[in-house]
Amino acid sequence: MNIVVFTGAGISAESGIQTFRDTNGLWNNHSVEEVATPAGFKKNPELVLNFYNERRRDLLKVKPNNAHFALAELENKFDVHIITQNVDDLHERAGSTKVLHLHGELLKMRSTGDSSLILPITEDIKVGDKCPKGFQLRPHIVWFTEQVPNMGTAHEITESADIFIVVGTSLKVYPAATLLESVTFQKPIYFIDPNATKIDGIPNVKYIKKKASTGVTELVNKLMK
Ligand code: NAD
Repeated sequence: MNIVVFTGAGISAESGIQTFRDTNGLWNNHSVEEVATPAGFKKNPELVLNFYNERRRDLLKVKPNNAHFALAELENKFDVHIITQNVDDLHERAGSTKVLHLHGELLKMRSTGDSSLILPITEDIKVGDKCPKGFQLRPHIVWFTEQVPNMGTAHEITESADIFIVVGTSLKVYPAATLLESVTFQKPIYFIDPNATKIDGIPNVKYIKKKASTGVTELVNKLMK
């Protein structure tokens, strides 16, 4: 039995990482164009690097919550794939072994001159920090207007799902939100989010309007029985 879980910023909210769109979300204090686009990086690299340096420092202070741990536990009984829009590493730290990041990872950086040159990073990235080939380093993050290289793999994984679980996402970021269209007809879908709104055109969705720590733990307990 294959279980595929699609997660967004909401699953990490109870760990203390801000989401983007909720009240007090990150976008309330920053403009997307300034900090999360290639044009913003070209215009003011220091501002963009600092934005992600701050996110990285915050990430190193927090821990996975019960929702991350419950999903890791599912691997004791099922083949589980996590497809996440998150750039944190909380699924991995909780013990999930198959995690596909759609929008990059905060604890990685890459060369601006060679996108295949990806390196680990836990410190700040500064203007003037260069890769071994001499190009400026940037966060390994998929910015708005950039391609999402893992999208094809994500659709393939989704097609193989016997159960599809969505957790903590506003489903407003594209193309990530199109994944639901790849769930095989009549396979069950669970959507756990306190603000889950009806997904048009997709049948078989069971809405669980609860926080991730409660909703995911309850669902996992049910599936493990
Ligand atoms: P979003 O901010 O658009 O939506 C967050 C969703 O989480 C909302 O639907 C909200 O109702 C829900 N939520 C809030 N608290 C919750 C809780 N305790 N339990 C369950 N759900 C809860 O986030 P998104 O849909 O993931 O899209 C935003 C983009 O921002 C993503 O592409 C992601 O890469 C990025 N992002 C990542 C992180 C992270 O890595 N932790 C944090 C912020 C933003």
